[in-house]
Amino acid sequence: VIVSRFAPAPTGHLHIGHVVNALHVWTMTRARGGTILLRIEDHDRQRSRPEFAASILDDLAWLGFDADAPPVRQSDRVAIYEDALRRLRSGGLVYACSCSRSEIAAEGAASDTELRYPGTCAARGLPEHAGYGLRVRLEATVERFVDLRHGPIEQTPSEQCGDLLVRDRYGQWTYQFAAAVDDLVQRVTLVIRGDDLLPSTGRQIQLARLLGRTTPPEFFHHALVMKTPTQKVSKSDNDTGVRELRAKGWKPEDVIDYAKSLIVGR
Ligand SMILES: [Zn+2]
Repeated sequence: VIVSRFAPAPTGHLHIGHVVNALHVWTMTRARGGTILLRIEDHDRQRSRPEFAASILDDLAWLGFDADAPPVRQSDRVAIYEDALRRLRSGGLVYACSCSRSEIAAEGAASDTELRYPGTCAARGLPEHAGYGLRVRLEATVERFVDLRHGPIEQTPSEQCGDLLVRDRYGQWTYQFAAAVDDLVQRVTLVIRGDDLLPSTGRQIQLARLLGRTTPPEFFHHALVMKTPTQKVSKSDNDTGVRELRAKGWKPEDVIDYAKSLIVGR
């Protein structure tokens, strides 16, 4: 059985990029007779706000995107992440890291697109305490998967990003960890999301495998919505917020049509 999810971060209101993603999620999943879960990804406590979560859920309902279960919030799932962390720790895979981002930038060899953690603290045996992040040791393996849109892909997370941060220095779970754990625990089998997350697919597959997941989900990465050929739509853009379009008198079908027009030909 197919299980997919729509997983917005409540760091702003729903915008047309979300609607495009939701269209992909609902269309693909319903066509395959699958189930859709709603997950509020509020792992970032500094930037997430409950009023954004409420407004996102309200706009989704207004647009007619009905999920098959009540929404879950990552902020309610700390025990689940703690449990996953315990399992990794018992396998000797977790270590504390005292490095700041600027320290990593100074000593790390940056790959083409992102900062790679060079493993500075891997053998230091630092105690786990407040102010230190936690990392999981990655295997130096090539992750191979077939993206439903891009085809066969190979990624080597240990070279892309190095040992993966699972909890940051402020005690917050990272996106990569929380999403991989949630997809595992919620038995998600189909992940539909934007191309910006394509580079992190391999590390999520590996993290899930380290947690015991034998079969990774299927992945479909769609094109991001662009305002111009080089500028992607972001949640801070007032002209593309569903709130603003509603206030201008747009109906749900107008917003859906607008979102569809951004997908055509991609
Ligand atoms: Zn470190």
